[in-house]
Amino acid sequence: MSRTTPPRPFDVTALFPQLAPLARTATRLHPRAGSPSRHDSSVGGPLLWPAGEPWPHCDGPHTWEQVDTAFSLEQERERRGIRTEAGSRPRQDPHPVRHEAEEGTIDDEPDPCSPWPGGPIAMLPVAQLYVRDISRLRPPPGQAEADLLQVLWCPFDHPDHPRTALLWRSAAAVTDVLDSPPEPFGVQFPGYLPQPCLLAPEQVTEYPHFLELSKELRQQLGEWHRWQAAGAVVDSSYAAAPEEFYRNNLSVSPGWKVGGWSRWGLTDPLPRTCRVCDSAMDPLLTIATTEWNAGTGSWAPEGDQARDPLPPGTPPANYTFIVLAQGYDLQLHVCPASSDHPHLELIQ
Ligand SMILES: [Zn+2]
Ligand SMILES: [Zn+2]
Repeated sequence: MSRTTPPRPFDVTALFPQLAPLARTATRLHPRAGSPSRHDSSVGGPLLWPAGEPWPHCDGPHTWEQVDTAFSLEQERERRGIRTEAGSRPRQDPHPVRHEAEEGTIDDEPDPCSPWPGGPIAMLPVAQLYVRDISRLRPPPGQAEADLLQVLWCPFDHPDHPRTALLWRSAAAVTDVLDSPPEPFGVQFPGYLPQPCLLAPEQVTEYPHFLELSKELRQQLGEWHRWQAAGAVVDSSYAAAPEEFYRNNLSVSPGWKVGGWSRWGLTDPLPRTCRVCDSAMDPLLTIATTEWNAGTGSWAPEGDQARDPLPPGTPPANYTFIVLAQGYDLQLHVCPASSDHPHLELIQ
């Protein structure tokens, strides 16, 4: 099933030609609930993992308080199943909600029967991306044969979000597959358990976040008279701050994506340089809480809300059930020089 982002309201480079050389292609992933196999690109699906290779574990540190209030995977999966079928009631707060359980519907209390066994915690599959599905995805230098990117995380805060691991491999080299990988005993929050989703990659054009533009360009974008050339597409409610229209509809796409420009929201833009070699790092994968929100609704794929409405009780456009930092995104940036250099995790 392909997904199509509606065309942008107009060509922003016609109004602001200085933006043209800053265009970048991003691949929106459009994760939607499904039953991916290990041969599919997926979010929260099984990984194509060699039987003879140790599964990644996180050595912590994990605190007793964290693990003492963990949610069991089994319980969370069951809860989602019940919620999806029974469709009990809407929930507004995207973070773990401790409300009174209703009989036979939802029980959000942590499972007291899964004490921390101690020691390292098995990491959870977050995504696997085959290069054949995402043409803009390129293996790192020195790994030309790699055609599969695998992303896992430890479902406990380190200290503000899960800790991720990135791994490239050649799919053809995996002959003996690991059938039952180890799982963590629990997750710190229900939103740290990705829902299995299939992907429908789509390429879109992005321009930098407003705050990453030159001072001159920022000034131009703030001048209402320039926008009036676009006609009625930009209504006069934006007259006081037309850059908001750029921010919401013309610059950086929302949701899960590969490549493109960095998204900012929690802080102003920060430097993203490799701490080993000082190279400027590139956005690789954005793990998003929502696919769009009130401001960025124009990016919702055509016909999407009618085609596959969300189960009741999830935050807006939250198909993966992942909730990060109460609604933000985790953006993984990598060093272009070497995959041995640590990647950067950025919550925005
Ligand atoms: Zn950990
Ligand atoms: Zn580097």
